[in-house]
Amino acid sequence: MTEAAPFPQLVIPNTLAAGPGPGNTDARVLAAFAGAGVADHMQPDVLRGMIECKHMLRTFMGTENVHTFGVAGTGWSGLDCMMSAVMPGDTVVAFSNGTFSGIDALTLRMKASTRDELAADSLNPQPASVTVIEVPHGQSVTAEMVEAALAELKPKWAFMAHWETGSGRINDIRGFSDACIKHDAMGLVDAVSSLGVEDFKVDDYQGVVGWASCPQKGLLCLPLTYAPVSFTDRYIETLRASGCYTYANHPIMEARHWGVIDGKDAGKGAYHRTHSGYAVAAFHEALRINLAEGLSKRAQDYIFHEKALTAAVTAMGCEVTSNMTSLVVLNLPPEFSGREMELVQNCRAVGFGIWPTLSAPVQVRIGILNLLTQPAITEIVTRFAQAMNDIGAQVDIDTITADLETHYKSALAA
Ligand SMILES: *Cc1c(COP(=O)(O)O)cnc(C)c1O
Repeated sequence: MTEAAPFPQLVIPNTLAAGPGPGNTDARVLAAFAGAGVADHMQPDVLRGMIECKHMLRTFMGTENVHTFGVAGTGWSGLDCMMSAVMPGDTVVAFSNGTFSGIDALTLRMKASTRDELAADSLNPQPASVTVIEVPHGQSVTAEMVEAALAELKPKWAFMAHWETGSGRINDIRGFSDACIKHDAMGLVDAVSSLGVEDFKVDDYQGVVGWASCPQKGLLCLPLTYAPVSFTDRYIETLRASGCYTYANHPIMEARHWGVIDGKDAGKGAYHRTHSGYAVAAFHEALRINLAEGLSKRAQDYIFHEKALTAAVTAMGCEVTSNMTSLVVLNLPPEFSGREMELVQNCRAVGFGIWPTLSAPVQVRIGILNLLTQPAITEIVTRFAQAMNDIGAQVDIDTITADLETHYKSALAA
């Protein structure tokens, strides 16, 4: 018997995280994570940290929902928790306009399937009670689309992604919420990409009963820490009445460790699972950074820097089809069409972490999460222009960067 020799210590390099997420984690968050002491999940400072996080999260999300807390994991963990109240046979209308809302719709189809419907095609079930409205890649879900579908189908649940990161499109959350109220559907929203980037408040959208986001995009924390979720009392009452088939991600049970017990704030949390003091420390620091800066300032910075990036890639001959402010989704100039993957791979090979789209059509995605400075945007623009020239474009990098400089100078003067 030979034993495997230990591999050398794993070294992971630093890259420029210029994709849809994870974003560039703030150095303060990394320090908080690495600096936490060895402490268990019932140690008083860990429990106090969780309670403080809960209160900061309510402010950050703009809500008085008592059931506002973090689900251990990533975006899909929070979404799974949010969708856990959807039970077999429940009627659902889901809007899908890209990769992520497509996976959300799959999750809803799994949850709403009867046993027979699930067994018929377990990895891609088609339950009779779920209608998925497919909106073409590159287009937004509009108020009219939601109104028409909910008026016709009158479902128990309606679902939409606020910002669809696959195609970089903003969907009409106001129209969605209003239609939910009008047709008495309970709205569920994937806010993974919008939270911390757009200046909005959960409580301004009363048609939405459940929200789920992620740690590592707008919130700027680390993946596998905490995915923010928030539920209205109506959601919680519905869930309490029907029950759901999970312990770990059960919205009522999971809230207990965050000191939400029997629908009220408790002085300290009760055991639900082994929480990580490191994750709590990182989440706490990320929330502190976000609240100190303020959402409206952050949202304005995204708008400003995204404009600069979009103008620069447009000047290189690319066509931008997105309208998110943290992400630019683009087509290469027609003569380079079909070479998107090659370009993205060239960039990634040198630590410039841009992304392709994950579903057809193939486009290039460049993100600016926590890259809201002139030097950071200039580096992205310069490296992207260089990558285009490496596949044969003739971008005049000096002109592009001079125009960028002008954009920033004129904004400072204004
Ligand atoms: C990133 C993303 C997800 C998935 O989040 P993970 O953190 O990878 O689990 C889901 N929905 C949207 C809209 C996203 O942008």
